[in-house]
Amino acid sequence: MPVQREFASELELISSIARRAGGSTRKPQKRGGRGFLALGIGDDCAVLRPRPGRELLITTDLCLENVHFRRDLHPAESVGHRCLARGLSDLAAMGAVPEASFLSLALPSELRGRWMERFFDGFLALADRFRSPLAGGDLAAAPRPGGVGGPALIAADIVLVGSAPAHRSLLRSGALAGDTVYVTGWLGGAAAELRSLERSPRRFRRLVPGAAGHPHLYPEPRIAQGLKLASAGLATAAIDLSDGLSSDLAHLCQASGLAAEIDARSLPIAPGATLEDAVSGGEDYELLFTARPSAAIPARLAGAPVRPIGRMKKAGRSSRVLLIGADGRRAALPAGGWEHFR
Ligand SMILES: [Mg+2]
Repeated sequence: MPVQREFASELELISSIARRAGGSTRKPQKRGGRGFLALGIGDDCAVLRPRPGRELLITTDLCLENVHFRRDLHPAESVGHRCLARGLSDLAAMGAVPEASFLSLALPSELRGRWMERFFDGFLALADRFRSPLAGGDLAAAPRPGGVGGPALIAADIVLVGSAPAHRSLLRSGALAGDTVYVTGWLGGAAAELRSLERSPRRFRRLVPGAAGHPHLYPEPRIAQGLKLASAGLATAAIDLSDGLSSDLAHLCQASGLAAEIDARSLPIAPGATLEDAVSGGEDYELLFTARPSAAIPARLAGAPVRPIGRMKKAGRSSRVLLIGADGRRAALPAGGWEHFR
C-alpha cells in the first residue's frame, strides 16, 4: 500500500535526520545528560531541563515557499539557514541564549533527496554554530491541492527555545522618553542583496552555507550582542529588525507608549543599499535598542558596530516615528516594512 511505503521512508528519513542532528550538537542528548537538552530526537517528546534561576523563551516562525523564499532564487542551504536565523534573532532581541530547536517540515516528495540534504546542511551548520541542537520535529509530504502530479509547496515551521536569567529578558516595552535609540551593524544590506539575487540568482549558487557578508542569504543573528546588552543592563528596551526599521521601531514605540525620531544622516547604511532599503527593507536581523542618555554604550558590542540613530520622545498626536532628513526637516515615517514575495 502506498501509505505503508510512505511510512517506511518517513522513518528512514527521520532517523537519518536524527543522526545528522546528533552530530550537529555538542550537548548531551542521552537520558541523564546534564545539559539543558536532557533528551533529544528519538522518543515521543524531547526533555528540556532548565537550570534553576533561569526562564524559558519560546519563539515560532513559519517559512513558506513563495512567501518567505523562492525555490528558483534561494539555494536550499540558504532556506535552512534563514528559517533558523529568524528565530535566533528573536532570541537575541530578548537577551536569551539558544538552547534547542524544533522543526516541522512539509516537503514536496521530489525534494526529499538532495534538496532536503542541502536544506539541513544550512540549518544544522547554523544550529551547531549557535549551540541550538535540533531536538525534535515532524516530516510530511506537502499536499498537492491539484491532485497527483500537481505542484506542491515547501512549508517549514520552526520552534526555538532559549533561556535567560529570570526577570532579566529584554522587552520592547521598557523605553523611556529621552532614551537614545541605537542599532547594531548595518541596515539595508539584505534588501540590496535580494535585488542582486533577483537579477542573477546563478551568481549566488555556489556560496558556502553561512558565508559571511551575505545579509539576505545568510543573515547573522546578533546573539552575542543581545547577551551583552542584557547582562550589562545597558538597554531599556530592544527588538530585532525583521520587518524593517520603520515597522520595528513603531512596534517598540507602541509597546513603550512613546514616539521616536530618527536622524537619516546617522543611519549605518550598508554598502550598495539606499536610504529606503535601510529604513524599510527588512530582514537585516540587527538589534534596535534604547538606553538612557547617560548609559555608557560602547562603539562596538561583541565585534559589531553600534550607532546612535535617534531618540525616544513622548507620544503626541502625530506619527509615532519621525525621520529627520538630510535637509534637517522632519517627516512622518510610515511603517512600510518588508513585503513578502508575491
Ligand atoms: Mg522579532
